Amino acid sequence: MFNKTVFNNFSELANRQLTGAELTRAEALSILESTDEELLDVVSAAARLRRAHFANTVKVNYLVNLKSGLCPEDCTYCSQRLGSAAQILKYTWLKPADAVAQAATGIRAGASRVCLVASGKGPTDRDVDRVAGMVSELKGEHPDVEVCACLGILKENQAERLKVSGVDAYNHNLNTSESMYADICSTHTFTQRVETVERAKGAGLSPCSGVIVGMGESNEDLIDAVFTLRALGSESIPVNFLMPFDGTPLEGTWLLTPSQCMRILAMVRFACPSTELRMAGGREMHLRTLQPLALHVANSLFLGDYLTSEGQAGQADLDMIADNGFTVLGQKACADLGEKDDDATPSGSHLTIRRRGAGTEISPNA
Ligand code: SF4
Repeated sequence: MFNKTVFNNFSELANRQLTGAELTRAEALSILESTDEELLDVVSAAARLRRAHFANTVKVNYLVNLKSGLCPEDCTYCSQRLGSAAQILKYTWLKPADAVAQAATGIRAGASRVCLVASGKGPTDRDVDRVAGMVSELKGEHPDVEVCACLGILKENQAERLKVSGVDAYNHNLNTSESMYADICSTHTFTQRVETVERAKGAGLSPCSGVIVGMGESNEDLIDAVFTLRALGSESIPVNFLMPFDGTPLEGTWLLTPSQCMRILAMVRFACPSTELRMAGGREMHLRTLQPLALHVANSLFLGDYLTSEGQAGQADLDMIADNGFTVLGQKACADLGEKDDDATPSGSHLTIRRRGAGTEISPNA
């Protein structure tokens, strides 16, 4: 445990960060424990850091689930886990042309990064070759897009091979603190996760690693996790808000409020002011009506659907960005992006299993 520190106001704290001070654990706790009355002060201070480093841009990322479900690992939060009874799409590797077509939909809608994800503990060398082939095809058609691979725990030389194939970044989330890790997974360790992030970084891939909040962690756990990410040099931090799928051990776990989600995002922004901060999976159901406010703290999001569940309509994401005075990174104007998708699921607090896009014959949500 550590005690709250005293500083005069959150604006003063932002001033310190802007002159290069490093957030202390006590200061992080003060942000997480701030009151609803202080929320706008916290957001306003965090927004100054966000604007100093990212102006009014929002980085749009697009997920392609290359291989869904049937994982031998037992991560409690995951709909694709061993023994999951969640009624998700289950399929083995997409064909390269299908993966590229899925990715292209997100790119056309404004995504500057495509995240190619596969369930499983980690790739075989053959899987790495398979993904490398997809990446060179994708980069051939879309040379400016960034590609992030998310394939699980990497073995020796796999990160180097992904780098050579044109992969720009590697995602492997730490998810929670080291001390809580055994509570959320028994089939691999926190240390293995850290090693993969280091392996990716060592091979010259941009490390993307973040957290899942709302799994019953304490504020101290959350600070531990975020400070470990800071020490590891994660260059983009997705903050996922637990989506408690029916049929998983965390079914029915609703521990977050929109305002606490805001405080969590603000704490990460204060801890890592110049790092890409993504409001990631579960933002619709947990931030709810505060999503636009969260854009003033986070500078990145996933467009449209997630790996196994549906997000709000891709056009609603783009409208939210434009309506709040932000621009999509790498794009001239949000209004030019994509057509309205009248069939897409509207935003709301329900968890809807993805039934469109990758692995189906139905158009993706982008
Ligand atoms: S998080 Fe990854 S490793 Fe864990 S169960 Fe899900 S797909 Fe498997």
